[in-house]
Parts: sequence; C-alpha cells; structure tokens
Amino acid sequence: MIRLKCERCGVTIRCADDQAGKRMSCPTCKHKFVVPRRPARKYSPLLLAAGALVGLVLIVWVVWAATGPTSPPESTPAQTDARKTNGPTRPTANLTREPTRPAPGPRRVRREPTEEDQKRWQQEEERRLKEWEAQDTARRIQKEIDHAKWIADMKAKQNKEEEERRREAEEAKRREELQQTPPTP
Ligand SMILES: [Zn+2]
Repeated sequence: MIRLKCERCGVTIRCADDQAGKRMSCPTCKHKFVVPRRPARKYSPLLLAAGALVGLVLIVWVVWAATGPTSPPESTPAQTDARKTNGPTRPTANLTREPTRPAPGPRRVRREPTEEDQKRWQQEEERRLKEWEAQDTARRIQKEIDHAKWIADMKAKQNKEEEERRREAEEAKRREELQQTPPTP
C-alpha cells in the first residue's frame, strides 16, 4: 500500500503497490500525477523504531520516578508506622521544573566613561594615594621610634658596662692599697 498526498488539494490518497510508476488522477480534485515508486517517507523504519524505543524508555523512566521503583510489600501497621516516622525517604523526582542552570550575571553595558566616571576614578586614586602616604608616614615614625629605642638600649648597656669597669678598677685599687700598707705591728 502506497500512501501519498495530492499536490493540489492535499487529500491523502492510498493506492496499491503495483500502481507505482503509473499515472493516476486524484479522486477528489482529478489532478493527474504519477504514483511514486517508493512511499515518500521522511524517516527510515529503523530510525522510527529507534525513536519509539527512546520514547518508551523515557516514559518508563518518568513513570518510575513518579511512582517509585516498586511498591513496598504488604506490611504490618507497626512497620508502616516505623516507615512513616524514620524510614528512608525516597527522593521525589522533580518533573515539573527544569534542571536549574546558573542565572546569567548582570549584563555589563559597555559604554564610554563619562566625565563623572573619570572624576570618581580620580577621587579614588587620590584617596588611595593619601592612604598610602599616611601608611608610609606611620611606618617612618615607627622606624624612628624603633631606632631611638635601639640607641637608648645601646647607651644603657654601655653605661652599665662602664659602671662595672669603674667598680672593678676601684676594687683593684683598693686591694693594691691594702697590700701596700705595711702591716701594723
Ligand atoms: Zn486532489
């Protein structure tokens, strides 16, 4: 059986296979045409079968996701209660919503920088510079303080050493004097 559509009126015409290649006229509008040798099919039967199979698998999956893999076996009321309270919950399939995709970020409008933009940038630059200067000043002051402390420490150390030397010298002198003085009879 060959199925075709009339080119003129669009009506579906069926004719026997052995009429292929023969002239024929449309029963509705009497348009004359040659019956094509092969039925004008857009897709091969193999492709159609594959498509049907994919559709079937999809339907099965959707039904499975909606209803669960298998219904639980008959259970006692106690078991049912336990399942209700702390039994494992089956993840519910989200069939209505599409998988979430990341929302597009704010669209950046490319435009020429305005006078205000330039002013703002300049102000920011100045602020950064001032901040840096303030930090630099603070650093320098700290450095000077550290240096002064170091000098004070050094001086204190030197003073201590000098004092010790002086005391030792005095001690030595005293001992010497003691040795030089003749023992009293
Ligand atoms: Zn026709």
